[in-house]
Amino acid sequence: MADDPFQNMLAQMDRAEEYADVDHGVFERLKHPERTLKVTLPVELESGEVEVFEGYRCQFDSARGPFKGGVRFHPSVTQREVEALAGWMTWKTALVDLPYGGAKGGVICEPKDLTDRDLERLTRRYTEGIRRMIGPEIDVPAPDMNTNPQTMAWMMDTYSMYEGYSVPQVVTGKPLEIGGTPGRVEATGRGVSLVTERLFEYLDRDLSDASVAIQGFGNVGSNAARLLDEAGANVVATSDVSAAAYDPDGLDVAALGAHVDAGGLIEEYVAGEYRGNADGSSWDDPDRITNAELLTLDVDVLIPAAVEGVITADNVDDLRASAVVEAANGPTTVAADEVLTERDIQVVPDILANAGGVIVSYLEWVQNAQEFSWPLETVNAELERRIGSAFDKTIDQYDEKDLPDLRTAAYTLALERTAKAHEYRGLFP
Ligand code: GLU
Repeated sequence: MADDPFQNMLAQMDRAEEYADVDHGVFERLKHPERTLKVTLPVELESGEVEVFEGYRCQFDSARGPFKGGVRFHPSVTQREVEALAGWMTWKTALVDLPYGGAKGGVICEPKDLTDRDLERLTRRYTEGIRRMIGPEIDVPAPDMNTNPQTMAWMMDTYSMYEGYSVPQVVTGKPLEIGGTPGRVEATGRGVSLVTERLFEYLDRDLSDASVAIQGFGNVGSNAARLLDEAGANVVATSDVSAAAYDPDGLDVAALGAHVDAGGLIEEYVAGEYRGNADGSSWDDPDRITNAELLTLDVDVLIPAAVEGVITADNVDDLRASAVVEAANGPTTVAADEVLTERDIQVVPDILANAGGVIVSYLEWVQNAQEFSWPLETVNAELERRIGSAFDKTIDQYDEKDLPDLRTAAYTLALERTAKAHEYRGLFP
């Protein structure tokens, strides 16, 4: 199960079906993506060699509005993974009530092995490959794993070149200078921090000094770490692919952020090779542990912020966190989920916990449509209002319907909303 995220997504839907007020026929319809395009991307690399890459764009469901979802560049991308991620985008936009459907794109590549020029060519070729299926009112891509504002700028430029005029609204997560919004880069991490605060309020527990372990220190993990640290929590562990750092007294999140921003690995950081200050010395002295050990630390909150399928039947019995906030998409397999529910470990599901990114993407898209720009305070206040309201609705659903867990509550809300849109619109022809 862990290696087939699409099966995992379907199993999550099945778990929610018995509690959801959804016609079975519509429910079956919701298990199939509308379409997936596969594109072949030959690119002449800076080295002079031609490499043929493969990419996908899956448009899962558009009953509630234009398709929306990120594009990831990663060696383990598969069609099934992209389709699962597109399904999760559909439930995410429905849960936080954005006027969008769900989509996702992916290119099989190892960005670390590519130069900036290679990445630009690959991005442009991919955009050309999918350009007939995207558009401001059709399908709006955004950043995901290993893609960033620069990637979005190349996508926007390529699309605009074909149209003959600038079309900023075709992608979100752009640089500020070409129609991006303040607050988009840290939006997912900010949302993770906000829902963690809400969870603690709901559980009537104090977040200050609560211990937090975060798997992954990319855009989402690092911003969540910084904001949770500012909110008074104690971030005791984090990781990247090279290693994990652990200090029961709390990591120096700012120092670690400076080290990683300077291109450093956590492996170097835990060895005392610190890139953040001039003499290369570190004042933070964490222990080196493995990613697997990080997941089973005795902490108040575990935040998986890396890839899918990391909490599985194999390690779930060893988990010691009292709550899990899913910053990654699909980090928990259904088999593990059932155990977490039995063990009464609260899980804030991905479609709620990491929705901050797409919420602020929506705010960017709205500003582009208005040809107007909002200050950061307005964006952050609107993010907080929207993710807070989705959190409260999920909790109300969980309590009122006496549901087994928060994921079931979130899925019933998302499925009911999407199904209602299908019912009103009916079948064509
Ligand atoms: N890639 C992000 C996600 O998984 C954001 C998508 C978007 O902003 O459209 O939610």
